[in-house]
Amino acid sequence: MARNLSKTRNIGIIAHIDAGKTTVTERILYYTGRLHKMGEVHDGEATMDWMVEERERGITITSAVTSCEWHGASVNIIDTPGHVDFTIEVERSLRVLDGAIGVFCAVGGVEPQSETVWHQADHYRVPKIAFINKMDRVGADFFRTVGMMRERLAARPLVLQLPWGSEEGFRGIIDLLAMKAVIWHEDTLGAEFEEVPIPGEMEEEAAAHRERLLETLSDMDDSVMELYLADEPVEPQLLKAAVRRAALSMKAVPVLCGSALKNKGIQPLLNAIVDYLPSPVEVPPVEGIHPATGEKIRLLPKANDPPCALAFKVQMDQGRKMTYLRLYSGTVNVGQILYNPGKGSKEKIARLLKMHSNKRERIESAAAGDIVAAMGLKLTATGDTLCTEEAPVLLETIAFQEPVISIALEPKRVQDNDRLLDSLGKLAEEDPTFRFKIDEDTGQTLVSGMGELHLDVILQRMKREYQVETNQGKPQVVYRETVTGTAEHEEVFERELAGRQRFAAVKIRVAPRARGEGNAYENLYQGEPVPEEFQAAVRQGILEAETSGILMGYPVIDVSTALLDIRAKETSDALAFKIAAAIAYKNACEKAGAAMLEPVMRTEILVPDDFLGEVIGDLNTRQGKIEQIMKKGAVQVVAASVPLSRMFGYSTALRSVTQGRATYTMQFGHYDKA
Ligand code: GDP
Ligand code: MG
Repeated sequence: MARNLSKTRNIGIIAHIDAGKTTVTERILYYTGRLHKMGEVHDGEATMDWMVEERERGITITSAVTSCEWHGASVNIIDTPGHVDFTIEVERSLRVLDGAIGVFCAVGGVEPQSETVWHQADHYRVPKIAFINKMDRVGADFFRTVGMMRERLAARPLVLQLPWGSEEGFRGIIDLLAMKAVIWHEDTLGAEFEEVPIPGEMEEEAAAHRERLLETLSDMDDSVMELYLADEPVEPQLLKAAVRRAALSMKAVPVLCGSALKNKGIQPLLNAIVDYLPSPVEVPPVEGIHPATGEKIRLLPKANDPPCALAFKVQMDQGRKMTYLRLYSGTVNVGQILYNPGKGSKEKIARLLKMHSNKRERIESAAAGDIVAAMGLKLTATGDTLCTEEAPVLLETIAFQEPVISIALEPKRVQDNDRLLDSLGKLAEEDPTFRFKIDEDTGQTLVSGMGELHLDVILQRMKREYQVETNQGKPQVVYRETVTGTAEHEEVFERELAGRQRFAAVKIRVAPRARGEGNAYENLYQGEPVPEEFQAAVRQGILEAETSGILMGYPVIDVSTALLDIRAKETSDALAFKIAAAIAYKNACEKAGAAMLEPVMRTEILVPDDFLGEVIGDLNTRQGKIEQIMKKGAVQVVAASVPLSRMFGYSTALRSVTQGRATYTMQFGHYDKA
């Protein structure tokens, strides 16, 4: 299959909730995929038709990627969540997309949530274009929104279109490159449109804005500057190329407008995706490392190179596991065995799927630049690299944190218990930041995750997708335990177990490690040979003991354990060693001095100047440590560290002290002594 990578676009849509992301996506899929249905539209059931389309597509749109074709280009739309509470979702989509569309509401403008994601995209060096939607709404103001892009996003907008009319009178757009007006035909749901001369009453404004566009572009582009200074005409093609250079280098953001709901402005937006956002070959090469040597490896998007892909999302699809892959180099085929260097495992690709707007297509192979779904990968998890054993590469994983908050659950109906565990298992497989376990003491099911909202959403999904309703307790902080000093302990285990006398003696040492270093284990035993099996049992016993500390049963972290001595008799067996090791561990931790650690969260609050004092005062009452206050456009960005235990209900509190004008994001920062 001939592929033209320069005609591929992997893009995401960044939007505040309600800005119109779903509607814009629907329209994009409609105009690119279902034009043959347009004939049916004339019979007056237009509204119904959209609704059916939307319902049908609901499923596809929630998939991690949807592909469509536009004028010979292949556009992959990667799902980008509007909510920044799910940091993992944002990270993983920003990792695999090459460009983004910011959709703004012409009434609400640049709202704080989109601001946060926009800045994150800046951080990942993702080129963007902006679509100012809802030009038909009462209160729509194109230029106010452009101004907010300047102030709040620190972006340099390149206004490529003007709205033709506004609110109820919104008719179409003025294209400042072609110097034409565009109107859409309502009776084809906007599938047909027409270029017409710029209407007389708009001529002056259009000329002024074209002048501004040329001026801004000549500032960053020599080829435009020469013509501009010489007062010579600039051809649309040349202008387009200059806009593309400005967008790809992130010097400026092309701005378009329209009304997705009224079916206006979508086709020019599709053109802009192709014209102004990068192909996979135009983004900087991805770097990985050799898993054994640590040597840096640059991956080029070449189909003939050894394959390398990042698994960026796992999704259950009718009970089957679907793994989304972004290919960075090489080609993978159905039936091929791929190597997972992070896990040291090998797996076969049973099926490859390309997810289209209205169907899924089974494909035989996928190559660099592609985003596809694979089936049959049982072991591969979000963030894993897949490559071949001959050319191993490890890409940076998608960073995600250990859960810090938990709640106890039980099904509302006792008979749902199995279904509860089954659904939790599936949800946990999709989301690496979500865990669950059964508390051995209470028999309760404990689920844990990244925050209150995260767990809320999980519970909702359980109800909606798996029909399991639950009762739940109050959210609890997941603390950790550690040791503060070094201590040794020898445990001699000599007891009857299951009707037989058994013996095991184990001597270990525990010592604290620096915060964040995790646990470590060393076997320092040098004496008489002891069966390998017994030593493995000691290791197992300690691993299990680490999951439940001596103070409150929280996981133990940042402790190194050394096996110093081990003694066996004829009555010894593995079980005895496992038990002895676990007891030795608990005793050693007690002697070494155990301590509780609590999660401290890094939070960033975006707040208008007027409410800065209230926000800081409130953080102080929560034992928050203010780390930085930075002015960004019209808002202040407050960075602070706050113990998670003091952050419950923060979204409500923040809303009430700022009259709903502030937003925040929160991420795990570090553990500190509680
Ligand atoms: P999302 O939350 O960003 O996915 O936004 P949706 O696409 O779900 O849109 C939110 C609401 O705004 C829905 O009621 C849409 O019908 C409406 N909407 C979307 N686009 C437009 C538009 O261009 N004009 C108007 N008036 N409403 C729109
Ligand atoms: Mg939506």
